[in-house]
Amino acid sequence: MEIRVIGVLGAGTMGNGIAQVAAQAGYQVVMRDIEDRFVENGLKAIERFLAKSVEKGKMTDEQKKGVLAKIKGTTRMEDLKDADIVIEAVFEDLELKKSLFKQLDELTRPGVVLTTNTSSMSVTEIAVSTKRPDKVGGMHFFNPAPLMRLVEVIRGYHTNDETIRTIMELAKKMGKEPVEVKKDTPGFIVNRLMVPHLIEAVKMAEEGVATLEDIDKAVKLGLNYPMGPFELMDLTGVDIALHVNEYLYKELPKESKWSAPTLLRSTVRAGRLGRKTGGGWYKY
Ligand code: NAD
Repeated sequence: MEIRVIGVLGAGTMGNGIAQVAAQAGYQVVMRDIEDRFVENGLKAIERFLAKSVEKGKMTDEQKKGVLAKIKGTTRMEDLKDADIVIEAVFEDLELKKSLFKQLDELTRPGVVLTTNTSSMSVTEIAVSTKRPDKVGGMHFFNPAPLMRLVEVIRGYHTNDETIRTIMELAKKMGKEPVEVKKDTPGFIVNRLMVPHLIEAVKMAEEGVATLEDIDKAVKLGLNYPMGPFELMDLTGVDIALHVNEYLYKELPKESKWSAPTLLRSTVRAGRLGRKTGGGWYKY
């Protein structure tokens, strides 16, 4: 099936980034959130990103307008009914995702591929809430979606080869580098590697091994990572780091590398959530 219209569920950090990438690749996009203000915020975030690209000379004002014209913001679920593929990017809540996939299954044409941008949850569990689990797969973008090149394409237990091919090809057309995750394992590749690294950094801070700044500096200069663990959590959300950590602890064999440090829990409890509050490990 030729893809012309991409439905995006959620206009938050990931949803608006994905909508932007899709529109820049030439697709028509319908981006749905539950309230007008969330849709507006998503559209404004895209506009801000594109305005910066114009300032930097990476695109013309005309091109910016062209991209924005391809994105329709809406609060109506029915507006996704003509989508040729859907990318879901709502809160990381399994029950919410399952109920939305059930609705999408009833709303969209049979054969339309439904994808989830979940960071860690089971694609298979989400897929079986539909009557087309063979047409459901993971399409995991990274934050910020317009800049990060990787997309993990996750094969659920029932996902067929054609669905994987469709998602891989779409990712490439969106200018991304897809990798196939052949087993629907918690955290997929990147989060499964990243979470123990974040946990160990917090444990070292707890033990007083080094300051946050020095741990970040060591990782950047010693491992050649662009960001240290604390900077990364501030960008992506300290609460999300804990959430993914707890999910991996629940789902994977009980090993200490998956157990959340007290300092991570108390930082989230104190509301120092990073991107969401402007306060995180460094600013509070
Ligand atoms: P976010 O909180 O910024 O945005 C989620 C959006 O979903 C909100 O605007 C919310 O109003 C909307 N929403 C809730 N219920 C909805 C519904 N029924 N229909 C439509 N929209 C609905 O969250 P986010 O950071 O964009 O994360 C979204 C998903 O992407 C999660 O599954 C998350 O795990 C995953 N993800 C996040 C990151 C990251 O770094 N933030 C990276 C990769 C993947």
